[in-house]
Amino acid sequence: MYKACSVIRTISVGGLLIVANVSFAHEFLRITDIRYWSAPDHTRIVVDGNQPITYKTMVLKDPHRIVVDIENATAAVNRDPREVGDSVIHRIRISQFNQKTVRLVIDLVKESQAHVFTLNKHLDKPYRLVIDLDRNDLVEKEKKERLNQRSKEKRIIVLDPGHGGEDVGAIGFRGTYEKTVVLALAKKVKEYIDQQKGYRAFLTREGDYFIPLRKRVEIAREYGADIFVSLHTDANFNKEIRGASVYCLSLKGSSDEAAKLLAERENASDLFGGVSYASNKDLNFILIDLVQTQTINDSLKFGGMVLNTLEGIQSVKFKQPKQAGFAVLRAPEIPSILIETGFITNPTDERLLSNESFQHTLARAIASVSCQYLDVLARRNGTTAQSTEMVPRGKGNVHLVKPHETLWQIARKYNTTVDELIELNNLARPDDIKTGRHLTLP
Ligand SMILES: [Zn+2]
Repeated sequence: MYKACSVIRTISVGGLLIVANVSFAHEFLRITDIRYWSAPDHTRIVVDGNQPITYKTMVLKDPHRIVVDIENATAAVNRDPREVGDSVIHRIRISQFNQKTVRLVIDLVKESQAHVFTLNKHLDKPYRLVIDLDRNDLVEKEKKERLNQRSKEKRIIVLDPGHGGEDVGAIGFRGTYEKTVVLALAKKVKEYIDQQKGYRAFLTREGDYFIPLRKRVEIAREYGADIFVSLHTDANFNKEIRGASVYCLSLKGSSDEAAKLLAERENASDLFGGVSYASNKDLNFILIDLVQTQTINDSLKFGGMVLNTLEGIQSVKFKQPKQAGFAVLRAPEIPSILIETGFITNPTDERLLSNESFQHTLARAIASVSCQYLDVLARRNGTTAQSTEMVPRGKGNVHLVKPHETLWQIARKYNTTVDELIELNNLARPDDIKTGRHLTLP
């Protein structure tokens, strides 16, 4: 649905020199930043430029290294070597090779597959050169480990913290990144699920790196996921708007215009994250209609249960799951939902979503309802359900408000203050508590 964002310029050096003489007299491309993101099996290097970037690459052995020459460029960055030290790269060396060439030498740990491409300017992103380095042996190893986790005894939940690396996702007014909040949350959800006998959770990414949307679905399938939960935070120019919502896939268009726009924004993750045209051309990859219709019905049911659970904790924007063409929800056989946990652009939601204690409360609720839904599925399929009674542990405990209970009594019971409970639960007044509400405890 998105057009190619990468254009590999193939102007000859001579041709470019003429252009340079005419149009950009004295104006070389300025390299303004060089950064990298380490994943377990690959490393991505991103070079920012103020103009379209042309380059040449060389692969060298003994020791393994890759040389990238950026043409008609000056390095307006610190030229100290970047000591990377991850599983793919030792370091990146940067030099002004000659008057018009910036040379990057990437010292590799082992032979790696290099995929180099450019990205055009996209919104606030400048022109970029992306150097993806995959260690195929590690890619295979990671995949094997995922396949080995498939289990007949345990039900498997794959959690997908949205965005990562180059793609920060939505940004709050206080500068909170969506990619950071959802990773922290996903790790907590995993913790709670893994505490439950008979359930296991895995993450599509465990650090600050980007994974294309298609790969996230593949990872879920390799784990043999019974359900898939993608975690995000919403954004709006209107900072008054807040609350959580849940989305499922639609094969026949979106449930409304807002859902469609949201799906477009989340699908644009690949553009921000930087997916080259070659690997992005078949975004609409798997659509097996019959299976998928049943899966979508299951997803809607699961989404409804999640919304019911969230209602006790966080303000909820829509009471029913909405549907649109989310690329990350396209595993044909795995009930998949996308939770927008709140609006990071709303000051209250931003504060809550960054708060450790609130993250625990939210994580516990998501873990609990996911296990409950797996039991519903198990009962339907005639297999034994596991126990889903969540035992409150450590941080993130909640208190269920009983009839006639006052905030003061609750504060005293948990050795905290009324003010702290008001702050933590975003209450308007001390008597703003209803019977049956879940209060987050410090
Ligand atoms: Zn998102």
